[in-house]
Amino acid sequence: MKYNYGECEICDAKLVGKRIKQDFWIRGKLVVIDNVPAGVCPRCGARVVRSEVGKRIAEILESPRIWSKAPVIQVPVVEFP
Ligand SMILES: [Zn+2]
Repeated sequence: MKYNYGECEICDAKLVGKRIKQDFWIRGKLVVIDNVPAGVCPRCGARVVRSEVGKRIAEILESPRIWSKAPVIQVPVVEFP
């Protein structure tokens, strides 16, 4: 089942359905949700998610018990010179 995301609101290119990694800062923690279904603009990189996907993301982010068991990765933190 392919969802039609329509055109990019910024540049009018046709959005392509993909699974993406999306990062969120929540209560001072960086949380990455992987495999998020989204429409991605091949021209400007804009991303849109369907409202039900957005709702599900909000549920995940509001439930630390869901992501507190997730694997943790280290990320480089670089101070802007
Ligand atoms: Zn675009």
